[in-house]
Amino acid sequence: MTFSSLGLAQDLIDAIRVAGYEVPSFVQEKAIPIILRGRDLIVQAKTGTGKTASFALPVLQLVKGPVSGDKRVIKGLVLAPSRELAMQVERALKAYGRQLAKPLRTIALIGGLNVDLQIRNLHHGADLAVATPGRLLDLVSRAAIDLSYVKFLVVDEADKMFDLGFVEELEAVLKVLPANRQNLLFSATITEKVIRLTQKFMVDPVRITEEEGSASAELVNQRAITVNRNNRGPLLRHLIRTEQWPQVLVFVSSVRDADMLVVKLLKAGIEADAFHGGLTQAQRVRVLHDFKDKKFRIMVSTDLAARGIDIHKLPYVVNYDLPRSADDYIHRMGRTARAGEKGTVVSFIGHEDQSHFSLIEKKTRIRLPRESIEGFLLTGAPMLKEKGNMPVKGHRMSKKDKARALALRGENKLL
Ligand code: AMP
Repeated sequence: MTFSSLGLAQDLIDAIRVAGYEVPSFVQEKAIPIILRGRDLIVQAKTGTGKTASFALPVLQLVKGPVSGDKRVIKGLVLAPSRELAMQVERALKAYGRQLAKPLRTIALIGGLNVDLQIRNLHHGADLAVATPGRLLDLVSRAAIDLSYVKFLVVDEADKMFDLGFVEELEAVLKVLPANRQNLLFSATITEKVIRLTQKFMVDPVRITEEEGSASAELVNQRAITVNRNNRGPLLRHLIRTEQWPQVLVFVSSVRDADMLVVKLLKAGIEADAFHGGLTQAQRVRVLHDFKDKKFRIMVSTDLAARGIDIHKLPYVVNYDLPRSADDYIHRMGRTARAGEKGTVVSFIGHEDQSHFSLIEKKTRIRLPRESIEGFLLTGAPMLKEKGNMPVKGHRMSKKDKARALALRGENKLL
């Protein structure tokens, strides 16, 4: 299967060549021809499956033609649940669109960045907008944006929109869009809620489900290393050095822990930086950008970086603190082994983490051998009472999950 056989135009084939993709991914192979045919589409696919290109390429092709003469009007709208994801999608659209004979203008409309500047940029006109729902509605209420020409709506990571409480905003956006448009929805999991939403706005959608067994998890080498909590820092430095880890995303559970670990790594002469909701939007953008550019080696993050973020060829993820839920474990793991690359996830397990990690294993249907590293053996006896240490996620959002949702939306600094 080749990209040209999917019906893509030559300038987009050139863009794919520049990006270095040789063959379409499963999702691309299935989705591109359907989108080009003008059908509504529901795709169940996680990040790492090439889903962004699967909508970006055909939408660019369809938007190319003049919809309203020479005037630049927004013809395509992508909604994303977090600013980072929105910016990532916008960058992808820009990159693929660069090879077009008549280049398109794209714009990111996201919270946390100066709204006046976005309004000024909108005055210059844009063909495609990538937005977080809240900021988009803000611009709509200021009459700063004209959505009456929108022909394509993409809802990315629809399930996260629900997790993050964006649904009312999403429905409000649907109300201000013209009725005659093509709708594309992407979601890692197709839940009841997602289905209910699609019934509200999609017309006879085609459904694509990621190929069974194609999940990137199979390319991930998962390791569980037992170590005393107070020895995790030295063990991390030891592994980075002795196993020559080129780049690592380390997850901790709080902003404070992230900052403290960065200080320790820097003291040990290892280039590191922190990524979390305590940073300004500009700082977040810079840190993530530099890490993606491989300008430093270790990024220490809260779960803010667990979802959606795409770091090209990231080889190692470390659960310095264990994730709270099996879902979060999967999301963190999804930062590595992307696009067919291999990756390793290392979880540090102290006495107090044993039962919680066993639960994660049970829920994710894995069972990992416990490794121990010479010089860092787990010592002492497990504490008898482990209650209350790591609450397991139930159906209602915990305070921490709420904080996380707000941090992703840029409204909370606790995560
Ligand atoms: P996504 O699932 O959209 O987050 O994409 C994950 C990563 O896969 C990104 O870094 C893309 O640049 C890359 N990618 C997308 N399509 C392909 C392809 N056909 N071949 C190789 N890499 C790809």
